Amino acid sequence: MSQIAQQLGKVRQRIDTAARQAGRPVTDIQLLAVSKTQPTDAILEAIAAGQFCFGESYAQEAIAKMQTVNSSCGYANIEWHFIGPIQSNKTAPIAQHFAWVHSIDRLKIAQRLNEQRPAGLPALNVCLQVNISGEASKSGIKPEQVLAVARQVTELPHLHLRGLMTIPAPCNDPVQQRRPFAQLAQLQHEIIAQGIALDTLSMGMSNDLEAAILEGATIVRIGTDIFGARQD
Ligand SMILES: *Cc1c(COP(=O)(O)O)cnc(C)c1O
Repeated sequence: MSQIAQQLGKVRQRIDTAARQAGRPVTDIQLLAVSKTQPTDAILEAIAAGQFCFGESYAQEAIAKMQTVNSSCGYANIEWHFIGPIQSNKTAPIAQHFAWVHSIDRLKIAQRLNEQRPAGLPALNVCLQVNISGEASKSGIKPEQVLAVARQVTELPHLHLRGLMTIPAPCNDPVQQRRPFAQLAQLQHEIIAQGIALDTLSMGMSNDLEAAILEGATIVRIGTDIFGARQD
């Protein structure tokens, strides 16, 4: 078994254990393998081990890898998620090549992705990135503005608003880790109560996936614990 297959197995086991502890069906939690900066060979190894959803942060790098992956394996059902920061003049390749975007941090980005989504493709699944721990340096919509942005995004016909995403401040305490995730889940709940149907909470990374699952994560984004440390 390849190293990546082994690491994937361990991560799936952790998801399973956390889901059980949370009393949630494990099928409610999707594993997004974050392959940014990793070579295409690593992605192909993960595919061979049954992983079909990949998260990327740099559009040009991702598109080059997509082309290699598409030509070297016959799977049509690989799903690419964009999770990185987005500049408003760089939205077109993202609108054209991805199935999901997790990192919408202002309305303008959503509007541009909506305009640039090719007509033949299904609506682009999107999450609003929320600056839940309120750090000045972190991107993301302020919690008090999320409902207003969500309402406007639901009006965009080529986008499908799925839920919220966050990257909390790093923290190693498993109890403390749950706080921002609980806050994001609460915010999601409030938005749903306003009549906006959301089904996705994108939260939890290598270091805190258990805490995220305990608070309701439906997508965990795991890089390091699958592919090893990055160069970045
Ligand atoms: C890099 C990255 C991840 C993966 O983080 P790991 O700690 O390597 O698991 C998850 N989400 C986002 C938005 C990232 O940029």
